Amino acid sequence: MTLEPSIRRTGNATGLDVFLCAHQDDEFSFLYTIQCSLAEGRDLLVLFLTDGGNSEVRNEESRKVLEAAGVHSDSIEFIGGELQFTDGKLMDHLLPAWRAINYCIEGLSSRVKSIYMPAWEGGHQDHDVLHVLGVCLARKLGVYHSSRQIGLYHCYGMSWIFYRVLSPLKLNGPTTKVPIPPAKRLKFLILFLNYRSQFMAWIGLYPFVILDYLLDGTVKLQPISWSRIHQAPHPGVPLYERRGFSNLQSVTTSIDNFLQTISPELSTKNPIDSNGPL
Ligand SMILES: [Zn+2]
Repeated sequence: MTLEPSIRRTGNATGLDVFLCAHQDDEFSFLYTIQCSLAEGRDLLVLFLTDGGNSEVRNEESRKVLEAAGVHSDSIEFIGGELQFTDGKLMDHLLPAWRAINYCIEGLSSRVKSIYMPAWEGGHQDHDVLHVLGVCLARKLGVYHSSRQIGLYHCYGMSWIFYRVLSPLKLNGPTTKVPIPPAKRLKFLILFLNYRSQFMAWIGLYPFVILDYLLDGTVKLQPISWSRIHQAPHPGVPLYERRGFSNLQSVTTSIDNFLQTISPELSTKNPIDSNGPL
């Protein structure tokens, strides 16, 4: 497979975009946006916040996919594997994860243009708590209005443990659709076959990603919202609770405690949602 031109953290690019992934395969939803950032001359930082359950194997799978998409290995940091943030339990590591992210961007923070993060959607508890970390980081760095969320999966409007993939929740605000060229879609679908350790999970994802690429073929970006993270992701029980992975109450309590601790660090210089709580 031919590598596309990669860009290091050069210090002379037009800025830096940060991509937040909870698990080593979450980057699948970011690949085209990552390539757009590179094409527009920005440097990248792709951060992984959990150990993925098997960090040695999964880090390499993600590294392979990202490098094939044009990302330089210097731009990838596997924080979760290094600090042993257990897959599924990111809510127990919120404060150390916040400190680790801040440590990674120390010295680069004035160059950050946008932060991309998993959506607030009640699909996986790690995605939601990472979303909160992303919203806080966007506020701290003054890039709240240029930062975006991308939905991975959720169960809103579905029964039992059925779910929708790459389907933005209307509650998260207007969606901007960025078309992915067909050749890129095909390339990405081939790249996703690298997630071999996640074979079982991808049996449930891959057909929906193919369908989305065939029928829609866009990246679906939504703004982030401070007030939304103070609400349930959607009416009804989130998917992670239906699956017995965690529950909304525990996730909410962890997030509330975290927000209370770090709120003095957040910038109030940038106006945020006009009717949301500060
Ligand atoms: Zn994930």
